Amino acid sequence: MLENASLKSYHTFGIEVKARFLVEVHSPEELQAFYQDPAFAALPKLILGGGSNVLFTQDFPGLVLVNRLQGIEVLAEDDFEVHLKVASGENWHALVQYCVERNWGGIENLSLIPGTVGAAPMQNIGAYGVEIKEVLEKVEFLNLENFASQTLSNADCQFGYRESIFKHELKGKAFITAVYLKLQKRGHLLKMNYGDIRDKLEEARVNEPGIADISKAVIAIRQSKLPNPAELGNAGSFFKNPIVAETVLHQIQTTHPLVPFYPAGEGLVKVPAGWLIEQSGWKGKRVGNTGSHARQALVLVNYGDAKTEEVRDLAYAIIADVESKFGIRLHPEVNFV
Ligand SMILES: Cc1cc2nc3c(=O)[nH]c(=O)nc-3n(C[C@H](O)[C@H](O)[C@H](O)COP(=O)(O)OP(=O)(O)OC[C@H]3O[C@@H](n4cnc5c(N)ncnc54)[C@H](O)[C@@H]3O)c2cc1C
Repeated sequence: MLENASLKSYHTFGIEVKARFLVEVHSPEELQAFYQDPAFAALPKLILGGGSNVLFTQDFPGLVLVNRLQGIEVLAEDDFEVHLKVASGENWHALVQYCVERNWGGIENLSLIPGTVGAAPMQNIGAYGVEIKEVLEKVEFLNLENFASQTLSNADCQFGYRESIFKHELKGKAFITAVYLKLQKRGHLLKMNYGDIRDKLEEARVNEPGIADISKAVIAIRQSKLPNPAELGNAGSFFKNPIVAETVLHQIQTTHPLVPFYPAGEGLVKVPAGWLIEQSGWKGKRVGNTGSHARQALVLVNYGDAKTEEVRDLAYAIIADVESKFGIRLHPEVNFV
C-alpha cells in the first residue's frame, strides 16, 4: 500500500498526479477486502489496468486499485476452435502474441493495443476492422455492491462502437475479473481490407498471409503512425470518431468534397475525428507542453511536463473549433477521472 503515491508511471499520459492511496491487487478476494475495509469505506475508489485510456484531471482523493490478476486457461478445444478464460490483469498485447504463436486466430488485428485484458470489454476495443466483441463469449465480474461473482453474455454486454454496459449502467459497479474468448484454430477469416494492411503485406512480399503476418503488419503500421507512450505520453485516440446523419455529411461536402466517411448504419456515417481536427488547424500544433500529434491528429500528447489542465484545455479548444467549423461535437474516448 502506497500513500500519496505518484501516478505518473501508472498511466500512459505520464502526467504527474497523485493518489491518496494506491495498491496492487492480485485476486478478486484481495480487491473485495480493500472495498470492505472500514479504513477506506468513505473514500472514492478507482480500478486501474494499464492506465492507457484515462486522463487524470486532478489528484485522486481516494484509493487506486491496480489490477494484477494473472492467468490464461484453455477451457475447451477441438480441431477448429479454442475457448479461453483470461484473467483481467493480463497484458492485452501479450495475450495477442500468445494466441498468434499458437495460430489461434481472431485477435491478430488488435495487436499492440496497450492495456489489460479486463479493460478491453469496457470500450469494446477495436482496430483495423476488428472489435473484441467478435470473439468474446462472456465477461466475468465482481459485483461491487454485493461482491457476488457474476457473468454477462456477449449480448448482455451491450457492445457498440467504443461502448459497453460497463461504461454506463455498470460504471463503477463492476470489477471485471476475467474475459472468455473463442478463437479459431484453422480456416482463419483474415481481415486485410482495413488501413494499409494489404500494402504492408505486399511490401513484405507475403503472398499467402497467416495470422502472424497480419499481426506483424498491424504492429508495423501502428509503430509508424502512433507515438509510443514510453517516449511521448498519450492515451491513443483522444476522441471517438463521430457518427452523424448523412445530411450533416452532405452539408460538409458542399465545402469539403473529399471528406472521408464510412457507412455506420441506416442513414448514418462515421467521419474520422482526426480529419475534422486536421481541417480545424490543430494537427501537429503544440500548446505549451501538450499538443495534437504531427502524424495522428487524434492523439493528444504530453511533451514532458504537461499539466492535466493543459491537456483538458486543449481538448476543449479542439472540441469548440470542430463544432464551430463543422457543427459536429466530438466526444472523448479517453475516460476523464
Ligand atoms: C498508443 C495507444 C494506442 C491505443 N490504441 C487503441 C486502439 O487501437 N483501439 C482501442 O480500442 N483502444 C486503443 N487505445 C486505448 C486503450 O489502450 C484501451 O482502451 C485499453 O483497453 C485500455 O486498457 P487499460 O488496462 O490501460 O485501461 P485503463 O486505462 O487502466 O482503464 C480504462 C477504464 O476502464 C476501467 N477499468 C480498467 N480495468 C477494469 C476492470 N478490470 N474492471 C472494471 N473497470 C476497469 C478504468 O477504471 C477506466 O475507467 C490506445 C491507447 C494508447 C495509449
